[in-house]
Amino acid sequence: MKEKMEFKTETKRLLDMMINSIYTHKEIFLRELISNASDAIDKRHYLSLTDASKGADNYEILIETDKEARTLTITDNGVGMTKEELVSHLGTIAKSGSKEFLEQIEKESTPDVDIIGQFGVGFYSAFMVAKEISVYTKSVQDGKAHVFTSEGLDSYDIDACDKEDYGTKIVISLRENTEDNNYDEFLEEYQIKSLVKKYSDYVRYPIKTWVTKYDEKTEENKEDEEEHTHLELETINSMLPIWKKNKNEVTEEELNNFYKSKFMDYQDPITSIHINVEGMLTYNALLFLPKKPMFDFNDKNERGLQLYTKGVFILDKCKDLIPEYLRFVKGLVDSADLPLNISREMLQEDRSIKKIATNVEKKILAELGRMLKNDREKYEEFFNDYGLNLKFGLYEDYGAKKDSLKDLIILSSLKQEKRITFAEYKEAMLEGQKEIYYAVGKDKDAVLKLPQMDLIKNKDYDVLILSDDVDEFMLQVLAEYEGLKFKSINQGELDLIDEDEAKKIDELKETKKDILEDIKKALPDCKDVLFSKRLVEAPCCLSASNGISFEMERVLQAQHQGHGAKAERILEINPNHEVFKAMEKAYEADKESIQKYAKLLYTQALLMEGILPDDPKEFSNTICDLMIHSI
Ligand code: ADP
Repeated sequence: MKEKMEFKTETKRLLDMMINSIYTHKEIFLRELISNASDAIDKRHYLSLTDASKGADNYEILIETDKEARTLTITDNGVGMTKEELVSHLGTIAKSGSKEFLEQIEKESTPDVDIIGQFGVGFYSAFMVAKEISVYTKSVQDGKAHVFTSEGLDSYDIDACDKEDYGTKIVISLRENTEDNNYDEFLEEYQIKSLVKKYSDYVRYPIKTWVTKYDEKTEENKEDEEEHTHLELETINSMLPIWKKNKNEVTEEELNNFYKSKFMDYQDPITSIHINVEGMLTYNALLFLPKKPMFDFNDKNERGLQLYTKGVFILDKCKDLIPEYLRFVKGLVDSADLPLNISREMLQEDRSIKKIATNVEKKILAELGRMLKNDREKYEEFFNDYGLNLKFGLYEDYGAKKDSLKDLIILSSLKQEKRITFAEYKEAMLEGQKEIYYAVGKDKDAVLKLPQMDLIKNKDYDVLILSDDVDEFMLQVLAEYEGLKFKSINQGELDLIDEDEAKKIDELKETKKDILEDIKKALPDCKDVLFSKRLVEAPCCLSASNGISFEMERVLQAQHQGHGAKAERILEINPNHEVFKAMEKAYEADKESIQKYAKLLYTQALLMEGILPDDPKEFSNTICDLMIHSI
């Protein structure tokens, strides 16, 4: 007896969207239905492992068209659905992808139709091309057959029916053609063939359709001028998973299509890596670098590659196959050497998995190296989104990966337009330059304004600009690049002024010992006060002794792991500057007054480093005091 049922509200919304969709790639509905059919066959096969009577030996998916009736029919001999399953699977939205899709749509005021392709949205996508859909299905569970019919509006009908074979047959009555949409194209043989090739070529079961063949000339018909044709049922997918094909036989377009449908992206990847390895260890891998970080990019639990063994899917996110810092890579590994029932715990210990992971990592880095060399623009784009990951990769584990990553890092520099590698910095070094200079700052302008830059600018040396929090930590871990040490422009000795000048300053230090000492006494927070060998124009600056820099102090404290980690502050004074001369004068007149000026000078040095004084009010009071007396 026919029963009429209402779709759930959520489902109605989704259907409404499909029916009114202006999405231009409506063709993806075929991919979705074929994928459902293939899943259904998987399920039946799985059941047959424990109950042979539930299995079949000719699993296949059949696509038929009827131009007169304008129907497209997709038949599988999978598990089928019971009546309850029809209601719960097709009458309500069970699939998380569809839910996410709806949520995404809700968020956007003008929904981007492209995301239909991104999410797939399964069975319901067929309503983009159908005016009515009938699903005939017979479940291997209860042996009963039912038909579900709907126009995708508010309700659907379910009725008992006759059906000989187990499985599901979906009949789509195509919509009338419109000016913008020619639905008849889905009745064309070439179109069916090309869509299956494009989206479903690697489905593991044969997808068959009726294909036109020319009749052979025989004794009887050889006089006949006209060519005659007949139809033959033909398998139109190659079934061999795309990753098992020899990489020379797979086009970039095929890889891109595979990636987009498998990993729910709507853009082509930046690049794909196809690995076929045979020997002691046999495996195939397909890896993709998404053009933009995927929505799960920041979710640490979402890392991992899919794992297959001999073409059978085992695990969705196998973390052991990819290091944390490469978590943006999507892809899969199919190994010939793993048992089907391997557990997550066993995987961690598995030697072949470890070897594959090492090799996968190597291949990815090699590919990045190639991109950097051959397609700089593409690499820079990549680095904008994922550079931080590489930097962390270099820094983590005390720099265990530094040798393989150091040449993939690009940083801005003072003198170059584009970001450069350490090798490029080295290459462009001037005569007499012995170290790689770096400064922390948000950009070139900020760095150029640093007082500590005076001498370096005079020498015309290039300076790497570190703008990410992790940068300085990374350089510390690296320590040197091909024999060249990294040198911060505001830490330790800079060794840039000529000997005579240095000597003069050393002598000055002796003659002006008293004032220096009294300044230091006024600044308990300051480790040392000295005459600067790096300032030309500025009156003073702050430098840190070797070890923790001011920037690292800031980063560590922000991460709450600082536990008082503090850079050692050194106040450097320019002895040739008018300000110091004025201070000397004041000191001669009144020794006590130096305390006030020392604090003022020190606070200015702190401010230039972006460090707030402990007592801003005192600073302000002193300045006001000075203003009152001098204006
Ligand atoms: P998804 O396939 O992603 O779960 P769909 O909306 O496409 O989402 O399908 C919902 C459910 O309906 C499926 O999970 C499956 O249980 C069932 N289903 C769809 N097509 C078939 C089919 N051809 N044979 C058996 N079950 C099916």
